Amino acid sequence: MGYAEIAARVAAAAEKAGRAAQDVKLIAVSKVQPNARVEAVLEAGHRVFGENKLQEAERKWPAFQERFGAVELHLLGPLQTNKAKKAVALFDVIHSLDRVKLAAKIADEIQAQGRAPQLFVQVNTGEEPQKAGILPHDLPAFLAKIAPMDLPVVGLMCIPPVNEEPSLHFALLRKLAARHGLAGLSMGMSDDFERAIALGATHVRVGSAIFGARDYG
Ligand SMILES: *Cc1c(COP(=O)(O)O)cnc(C)c1O
Repeated sequence: MGYAEIAARVAAAAEKAGRAAQDVKLIAVSKVQPNARVEAVLEAGHRVFGENKLQEAERKWPAFQERFGAVELHLLGPLQTNKAKKAVALFDVIHSLDRVKLAAKIADEIQAQGRAPQLFVQVNTGEEPQKAGILPHDLPAFLAKIAPMDLPVVGLMCIPPVNEEPSLHFALLRKLAARHGLAGLSMGMSDDFERAIALGATHVRVGSAIFGARDYG
């Protein structure tokens, strides 16, 4: 596979769903990948990347941005409250808002830094005990609690359970977002991004299908 093919498949899936290709954002998930693979995608002109860990992103991206210019950076992994300051400084979009305390800390940092990343609320659609995210039935109360903070919440994000049909989770996420008037849907990864786009994904997060398998060695 690789970047050009995945970008073409995203555009084709958008068109098939009756949507414009630019209405679906392809986030190239570069976590753990060797620099040479990331550089190849930067050289191809892509400028939207996702990372799972703040520290890894801080190590890699300032240097890449010095060489390649501005890049839109998305944080996809869990965020500890004590790292909110650095996350607000570095990322343009945070996909893992899942606690009131974290929301309050991000609100403080937006005030202090005058910089406001867009936010997705992560929803644990599979209700998996080990997984981060707000449970679907807790979502209304969570959104009500953070409403006074006036945060730039743009949508919902989910990571479906590995052994279930992801489309059921994508459909649930879309229903929840519509119910709360949220336009953004961060859903779909290497194995299922076309199904996610068919169900309304506005942001797909694709790693291994672009860069190759991750070597955690
Ligand atoms: C790693 C990761 C991805 C990308 O996964 P692939 O299967 O390599 O496409 C997407 N979203 C999140 C939250 C991730 O952690």
